[in-house]
Amino acid sequence: MLEGESGQLIDGGIDSKIDSGVRGILNEALAGRAPGREQCEALLGFHERTIEANLTRAVADTLSRRRFGNQAMLLGQIGIETFACPARCGFCVFGEGHTQFPETRLSLDQIIEQAEGLAGGGDLYALFLMTMHTFEIDRLTSIVAGVRKALPLQTQIVVNIGDFDRQQAEALKAAGVDGAYHVQRLREGDDTVLDPAERLRTIDAVREADLDWYYCCEPLGPEHTPTEIVDQLMLGVERGCFQHAAMRRVWLDHSPLAQRGQISELRLGQITAVVSLASGACAETTTIAVHEPNLIGLTSGANVVYAEAGANPRDTSTDTRDHRGLDIIGARRMLYEAGFTAIRRGDGSTSPLNERTIDPACV
Ligand code: SF4
Repeated sequence: MLEGESGQLIDGGIDSKIDSGVRGILNEALAGRAPGREQCEALLGFHERTIEANLTRAVADTLSRRRFGNQAMLLGQIGIETFACPARCGFCVFGEGHTQFPETRLSLDQIIEQAEGLAGGGDLYALFLMTMHTFEIDRLTSIVAGVRKALPLQTQIVVNIGDFDRQQAEALKAAGVDGAYHVQRLREGDDTVLDPAERLRTIDAVREADLDWYYCCEPLGPEHTPTEIVDQLMLGVERGCFQHAAMRRVWLDHSPLAQRGQISELRLGQITAVVSLASGACAETTTIAVHEPNLIGLTSGANVVYAEAGANPRDTSTDTRDHRGLDIIGARRMLYEAGFTAIRRGDGSTSPLNERTIDPACV
């Protein structure tokens, strides 16, 4: 049982009711000293409904807005093809052995049409192109080159694909890729059939090719202990990720991990806050994301939302726009409601976010 899980009543002064260790860690963070492994584990040991967890989220929110100038980022992702994925991730709708998802393969024209829908407003920082673990590098580089021509210059391209080597990283970069999302997941090798060391080699290839490296603490479930979570999230902090994030595992009734359940958005917000606070030690980190987008995460240290189209590993619909995926106006509105006042684009410029600019088509 986590600290305070049975609930606690506040019947005295606030200071006396807040764990002194947590107060110390958060005061240090406010003074510019990010929590290390031991401190992060202590913060994650509290139940998400405790005052200590709420205070952790509040401090992370304050520091993140200060660090990023209250600017947010809009990202978009298109799942360009699906088939039974040999990585067999037990939490993913595409995993071979349990998938019920149909095979899909978007044409370049379809991808461009979806890319223009996501990036047309001009404020998309980056468009992510997602494949299964295995992919054809020649098809992918030609898609990247085609999409690059269709996107505004201020929108970058990021790939979310399987493992690849330095040579492939260079080929993707030459085609127009700016960054790659790549993660050594929680319980990689146990809940997936992938080799954790291979995941690290790909991360090395991303960094050696000078691509922006997008990392994430994922896929979080109720079974993950504070120690496991900290070990996994610190990989991104210690190796210098461009973006850190937190993502929960979404409950899928036919998936092998369904019986383990799902954490609440409140617990996800608490973990997002710890990711954000720990990332204070990482000068390379310029942004914090929360997946799927939600207001608790965006007021707990995250400043990024993803709009999605096509296939999505957390969704049973072949086009997530019709189901779980947030569209671009919904994403802008969520950032506005979370109190952000500007959107940072992929070329470093910013555009104001206010009640008049939520929907650029109405300006
Ligand atoms: S999470 Fe990615 S690598 Fe794992 S099964 Fe799904 S598509 Fe394949």
